[in-house]
Amino acid sequence: GPMAIALNYVHDARTVDAATRQSDRFCHTCALFAGTPDDEWEKCSIFPGKAVAAEGWCSAWAPKAEK
Ligand code: SF4
Repeated sequence: GPMAIALNYVHDARTVDAATRQSDRFCHTCALFAGTPDDEWEKCSIFPGKAVAAEGWCSAWAPKAEK
């Protein structure tokens, strides 16, 4: 949808230019990803009703809180 386009969401984070995305940033390392690293697809709180790829990425990526 338009939100995904605005945030440059991609299913495969590795396709994003290194100048744009740090190499450790994936949906599964993002605070907004509802799943665990074992989930291939999960919900993301900024894309209601959609699933995002664990190996995906978008420009709203945010670090998880320190455990
Ligand atoms: Fe993936 Fe995080 Fe962007 Fe959601 S906010 S699509 S989990 S990188």
